[in-house]
Amino acid sequence: MISKSSIHIFYQDKSDDYLLPYSDSTSIENLAHCIAVLYYFNVPPNEIQKRLALIKPVSMRLEVKKGINGCLLVDDTYNNDVAGLEMSLDFMSSLPGKDKSIILSDIHQSALLEGELTKQISEILLSKGVRKFVGIGPMLSANKRVFSELKAEKKFFPDTENFLHHFSDEMFNREKVLIKGSRSFTFEKIVSRLQEKVHGTVLEIDLNAVVSNLNYFKSKLKPGVKLMAMVKALAYGGGSDEIASVLQYHNLDYLAVAYVDEGVQLRKAGVSLPIMVMNPSPESFDLLIQNNLEPEIYSPMLLKKWLGFLQGNPSSIHIKVETGMNRLGFDEEQLDELVDVLKTNTNLTVVSIFSHLASADKEDHDAFSKLQAEKLLKFSEKIKRALTQKPLIHILNSAGILKFPEMQLDMVRLGIGLYGIDPELKENPELESVFSLKTTISQLKMVMPEETVGYGRLGKSDKPMKIATLSIGYADGYSRAFSNGVGQFYIGGARARVVGNVCMDMTMIDVTGLDVSENDKVLVYGKELSLIEVATWINTIPYEILTNTGPRVRKVYHIESV
Ligand SMILES: *Cc1c(COP(=O)(O)O)cnc(C)c1O
Repeated sequence: MISKSSIHIFYQDKSDDYLLPYSDSTSIENLAHCIAVLYYFNVPPNEIQKRLALIKPVSMRLEVKKGINGCLLVDDTYNNDVAGLEMSLDFMSSLPGKDKSIILSDIHQSALLEGELTKQISEILLSKGVRKFVGIGPMLSANKRVFSELKAEKKFFPDTENFLHHFSDEMFNREKVLIKGSRSFTFEKIVSRLQEKVHGTVLEIDLNAVVSNLNYFKSKLKPGVKLMAMVKALAYGGGSDEIASVLQYHNLDYLAVAYVDEGVQLRKAGVSLPIMVMNPSPESFDLLIQNNLEPEIYSPMLLKKWLGFLQGNPSSIHIKVETGMNRLGFDEEQLDELVDVLKTNTNLTVVSIFSHLASADKEDHDAFSKLQAEKLLKFSEKIKRALTQKPLIHILNSAGILKFPEMQLDMVRLGIGLYGIDPELKENPELESVFSLKTTISQLKMVMPEETVGYGRLGKSDKPMKIATLSIGYADGYSRAFSNGVGQFYIGGARARVVGNVCMDMTMIDVTGLDVSENDKVLVYGKELSLIEVATWINTIPYEILTNTGPRVRKVYHIESV
């Protein structure tokens, strides 16, 4: 989220221009002070510019969490100053949803007088379009009147306890809530009150890692090649609103989802990028149009239905051709008919023509992949004859991007790689782990050799065992296939195996010899236990495990931003 700006400095009889590594007003003001001091010490302008370029952004630790009543919480309870306030509010704009609310404590570490400080805060809240403001602390409460200009719903409380006493679940609904307080105000109590309460298993999603993986794949693209990010199936299980909203800030060209509902959800979250829908059903054509979504048209029948629905109205479409996957797509012998229909229906704009590789991740099928690309080029030449504008041609998925630079064509479609998993399912140090699934120990117990563990009494041992019962089961997406020693967890620096059958809501593991306690966190997969390995234990692929994550698993988003 770093962007640049420039500043023009007049000093004595000279003037100079500088490129600044930031664009938010607080940072620009800080840099202006630095530059002024450097002028005073007669540091030459070229030296100043060189040093400016070296400034590294100071990262802010923010956590984005799902809140009650469909709210999104931005937990910023690490520090509280005026500059940080402005940056956090700016950051909120990159999150899905419209209405911004803030719960703010008094700010302590400031040289400004109370009245002046409150006035500044009020101006910032006004300029950032805050709709609801809760001020907590004696200073904010005493200076209520200063906020009269701020057109927002306002409430003031003398301290955190008093706020919590008056708190009710109806206070916040479908809004983005920034919770920003000085340490002494213990705002973590507010966060915990506002957080969606469910279950001891949490899927942590590192949004910075998503951005870093995006940049890694971008670095593999030739100049001018466009990028479509695949956020189908809730962004492979990670939550499409949050991931798409972050991606939208990082120069992408397209998003793709599988079904219309997924696209509608992204629009509701405020995502404005063009969105392709890969499998649009005729029942959902209305929603498709209302939400400005672009259908993939893959058969003569679907094309006919779409044209019938459009009644001559304009529409952007994507054409999928069959080159070897045998899933969706126009067959070669259907192309002449397609060309005729496109020629007579000029209300259609063919944005892109594409196909999908059947086995880009397997070396022994490289020749087949190349054949598929050749077919796509041949078919698209034919279709292009019916068109007046130039469509984008694309075929590569994540594996293809890494393997076939010559097939990048006009655009590529990035999926699994974005989520930190090497498409050839090998460990790749250049990709950052995005997902960590964590659960907790509900209880510890000792089990003797004559006893058994779990349903079917399949968990046994000839030595005494220390058993930890975890709050995750197959209802959370932890497959029953992990039963009886197949699955392992990472805890206290070691691995521990599943004992007996995985239950619907719980799983028992052997933690004999490990120094663990009840309520300890246990890693299901993540950095120290790769999802790629976990998937191999039950003969599946990471895609399936991710998308099987159960709805009651809470999602927590981590982001460090500037
Ligand atoms: C899912 C999908 C992709 C992305 O595949 P990855 O292997 O996840 O990179 C690309 N194109 C189409 C048509 C897809 O359905």
